Amino acid sequence: MPYTPSLDVSSMDKSVDPCVDFYQYSCGGWQKNNPIPPDQTSWSVYGKLYQDNLNFLRGILEQAASSSSERDALTQKIGDFYGACMDESTVEKRGLAAVQSDLDAISELKSAEAVTPLVARLQFAYGRTILFAQGSTQDPDDSEQQIAEIDQGGLGLPDRDYYTKDDAKSKEIREHYVLHVQKVFELAGDDPEAAKQNAETVMRMETALAKAQLTRVERRDPYKLKHKMKIAELAQIAPSINWPGYYKDLQYPSFEILNVATPDYFKEVNAELTGEPVANWKTYLRFHLVDSFSPYLSAKFVDENFEFYRKYLRGAKEQQPRWKRCVQYTDRNLGEALGQIYVQKVFSPELKASTLDMVRRIEDAMGQRIRDLDWMSPETKQQALTKLAAIRNKIGYPDKWRDYSSVRVARDDFAGNVERAREFEERRDINKVGKPVDHGEWYMSPPTVNAYYSAQMNDINFAAGVLQPPLYDAKLDDAPNYGDTGGTVGHELTHGFDDEGSQFDAKGNLKNWWTKEDREKFDARTKCVQDQYAQYVVVDDVHINSKLTLGEDVADLGGEILAYIAWKGAESGKKLDPIDGLTPDQRFFVGFAQWACANERPEDLRLRAITDPHSPAKYRINGVVVNMPAFSQAFSCKAGQPMVNPPEKVCKVW
Ligand SMILES: [Zn+2]
Repeated sequence: MPYTPSLDVSSMDKSVDPCVDFYQYSCGGWQKNNPIPPDQTSWSVYGKLYQDNLNFLRGILEQAASSSSERDALTQKIGDFYGACMDESTVEKRGLAAVQSDLDAISELKSAEAVTPLVARLQFAYGRTILFAQGSTQDPDDSEQQIAEIDQGGLGLPDRDYYTKDDAKSKEIREHYVLHVQKVFELAGDDPEAAKQNAETVMRMETALAKAQLTRVERRDPYKLKHKMKIAELAQIAPSINWPGYYKDLQYPSFEILNVATPDYFKEVNAELTGEPVANWKTYLRFHLVDSFSPYLSAKFVDENFEFYRKYLRGAKEQQPRWKRCVQYTDRNLGEALGQIYVQKVFSPELKASTLDMVRRIEDAMGQRIRDLDWMSPETKQQALTKLAAIRNKIGYPDKWRDYSSVRVARDDFAGNVERAREFEERRDINKVGKPVDHGEWYMSPPTVNAYYSAQMNDINFAAGVLQPPLYDAKLDDAPNYGDTGGTVGHELTHGFDDEGSQFDAKGNLKNWWTKEDREKFDARTKCVQDQYAQYVVVDDVHINSKLTLGEDVADLGGEILAYIAWKGAESGKKLDPIDGLTPDQRFFVGFAQWACANERPEDLRLRAITDPHSPAKYRINGVVVNMPAFSQAFSCKAGQPMVNPPEKVCKVW
């Protein structure tokens, strides 16, 4: 892996006053030196590290793919998966034939009653949700148990808002989308006139579905997604679906209760199932099958998929080279097989020990912070401390690897490999129903450059990929490491106590543990953050939807405060000298800012303003430091400068 230090002075722009725009001061040089590559939709420290990981994994996969009789089972699987993906001429020759049997099943559809059994079949193998989403989930009232769940889905655009908003840009995107749907039908063999009509049918059906969906902001309220019921009750909401038959088709373990996340959506599905003729369902399903599987078909499908989803919607200029896509598909489909080899090479036991030590120090800081809060009652504090103590720390990779031995991977069948890997994951997910929760499970592969908190698991997870330079840098001093990775650890930890996560208790159950007064005070504090971020502009006249980003913004602020406290604790008694002209405190804050250095395309910013719960990079730094008096002290900023909030405007949640 190439090495870049986690604090890089050449990435700064010292001509900018840190008290005026700290992000620009810390990242101006990086932005100048790192233009967005044509095949990327944005470019960032995280994105660049992920590209380095892809390059590294490519080496592993090329070696695994070169045929040799001595390959073990794991090497054979990842090698042949990658090799089949790289075998473009075979993929090209097969064309649409790769999905022909499912297309035939759609064309043979004869009645409305036959739609759902077919949906069940297609849901199994195709990436995007077909009509709706299904699977297992933790019971919101008993997080140790897995139950069945169904949820909204079935749209081709990235969010329901694209179908409902009335501004000129949204209308333009809808027009482009209809043209894209038409193109997909033409590629699948329709004449242009039929393709045009079919595209209009798809758009009309999806619009009706979209209007019945919850918004992303509504979905941040866990109570809006909790509707546990018996199959018989679901049958009253959507009587035109034979639910016992549906679950039998998917071979679910038997169960009494399931969660219907979005009952209104299933009322709409029911209305469309009775209102739309079978011919329209054939059209809808055919589009979703071909569109969602396009990346794995022949070049004309791959190209059209790129043109609309990555180029038009997100601003990329060029398609990524094939090897890069094939590495990502292998990671996505056999992540814990590829990940085993990755962590052997990049994630030493020493690295695991040192990052775990940092995690523990930040948890201690959180405990201290909770005990010191001047606005919270002792009863709620006790509950918060209990929850903090119950958080599980998962570092790097799972203790027990997923067993892919039942997945057949063929060297000459890329699309089939993807289908079989997906079926394996679907089956694995469905089979959890009725079983106790596996706390060792990860929702991210080890090479992923990311981390997450799960409210129902009450655990924090840091993939090995996010604990590498230039994020965590064992060669550098603690200041930038705590500012950067320490802040990430604090961020994930704070998610357990943000406006959403704080509604779950120590066991991960959706259960209130706050006194009424404390909750009101807490809500007023998060409102401060919500109002602050609502002022920030993403692109043109689009502001941050701060009701969507609130949890992330609270986690960003809380996380950095915890990292600062933990760092001060770890360094107490040591005499630290300035390095490269930066004091230790300045290094902490520049280290923090440099995790987020990025260049972003306007198209991608616009899409993420609708879909991404995170604020744009610049505000994830500037929005935090204005609320940290330690920052103004570190840079001797004066009252009245943009990065200095007067005391009455400082938001303080945790
Ligand atoms: Zn987060």
